[in-house]
Amino acid sequence: MTILFNPIDPVIAPTADGNEFPVRRIFCIGRNYAAHAREMGKDPDRELPFFFTKWAETVVPSGSTIAYPPQTQDFHFEAELVVAIGTGGRNISAERGLEHVYGYAAGLDMTRRDIQLAARDQGRPWDSGKNVEESSPLGLIHPVALVGHPSSGAIRLTVNGDVRQSADLRELIWPVADIVSYVSRFYRLEPGDLIYTGTPAGVGPVVEGDRIEVTIAGLSDLRIEVGAAASQ
Ligand code: MN
Repeated sequence: MTILFNPIDPVIAPTADGNEFPVRRIFCIGRNYAAHAREMGKDPDRELPFFFTKWAETVVPSGSTIAYPPQTQDFHFEAELVVAIGTGGRNISAERGLEHVYGYAAGLDMTRRDIQLAARDQGRPWDSGKNVEESSPLGLIHPVALVGHPSSGAIRLTVNGDVRQSADLRELIWPVADIVSYVSRFYRLEPGDLIYTGTPAGVGPVVEGDRIEVTIAGLSDLRIEVGAAASQ
């Protein structure tokens, strides 16, 4: 027997101290900042956390130009703090949640907003709105050993230099330890998993040629440019 075609290469995310973090899976938390939940028409006080998933191959590094995706007229940015899991576990308690974190990075959860909202309103899956090619740009991963566990500090996004999202990590409704615990009740977390922790208010559309920059206090900036639609 022969392998019929080459298996996909692992997705490698660089760390701030020169190592390589192999990405396994991506979990994305929804509506984790109250002001963003309200701008999406939801009451932040009445919901448990929820999450959706993306393919690891949607991760692209800082400095990338991402193709404007097909089947949308409303491609949105969402700046997010990303948690990189270093130690696996199932049914992790919130008290021990941070022990499973390898490090943190600035990230983007790029979204076909028109598709996502239509799916949401019709009770359909979010996959085609969220699990978009090149939709999970990721900055350098900073090990906990170097930066600790950031629980406060500015999270900010600019488009072509204009500030569009500006909040503080202390506004997270469900902090990192609770998120790790919650996801681990549904799936055994594994080393290499990434958790995108949700976006603050101010989300909006981008067009070809836009330059997006995500800044989170204590972490490396994430810079992305939006390119033309992919032709192949
Ligand atoms: Mn998001």
